Amino acid sequence: MKKGLIIAIDGPAASGKSTSAQLLAKKIGYIYIDTGAMYRACALKAKKLGIDINDEESIRNLLDYIDIRIENNNSKNRILLDGEDVSEDIRADDISALASAISAIPAVRYKMVELQRKMGENGGVIIDGRDIGTFVFPDADVKFFLTANPEIRAKRRWLELQRKGIDKDFSEVLADLIKRDNNDSQRVLAPLKKADDALEIDTSNMTIQEQTDTLYRIIFPRLEEECKCS
Ligand code: C5P
Repeated sequence: MKKGLIIAIDGPAASGKSTSAQLLAKKIGYIYIDTGAMYRACALKAKKLGIDINDEESIRNLLDYIDIRIENNNSKNRILLDGEDVSEDIRADDISALASAISAIPAVRYKMVELQRKMGENGGVIIDGRDIGTFVFPDADVKFFLTANPEIRAKRRWLELQRKGIDKDFSEVLADLIKRDNNDSQRVLAPLKKADDALEIDTSNMTIQEQTDTLYRIIFPRLEEECKCS
């Protein structure tokens, strides 16, 4: 039975997707699914096993015995890799670039997309990523594409690293972010791209509260409609 809408939020790194998605999910009682965390978990597994990210055959083999789960607790995701909570480990700086590289391997995408579709097929979900509105759920009920200028996104990431006590040059953070966006946009299968029917929102000059409120105002009538129909 359908439990609600499928709400897709795509966009480049640090465009505000996950923060808004989590807050919104909490507000409307939906499940939040962070698909980036799944690619990060794959990358972490490859790193732990010492597998070179360009060694496609070994990566494909790894997929046969990888166990990735997302647990929802108060709209926050806990990522379990082979039963171990890796929610913190997957946020390490080097994992971002590794996740971007591994996510371009078609076998990895097919496996993750299959899991994502299973998690979201009954609705009642807010799911964020790069290809949700174009590939994972092309028929999603509501689609957003969040953007923000690269300097502002890099500043958000830089502040996040500072808060964790990681001192990295702003210029390096910016270069890494631009490189990752390029990789994600240029891969052959399911690249980072705005779906034709997605609503684009530039969050450059918005606070977290403003961007969440903006999304909520758009979703609200759809939620009401959904309640009347079910
Ligand atoms: O969203 P996050 O920055 O955690 O994602 C990490 C990486 O995972 C992205 O740079 C991208 O390469 C990949 N990804 C993807 N498709 C998604 C979500 C994330 O390819 N749906």
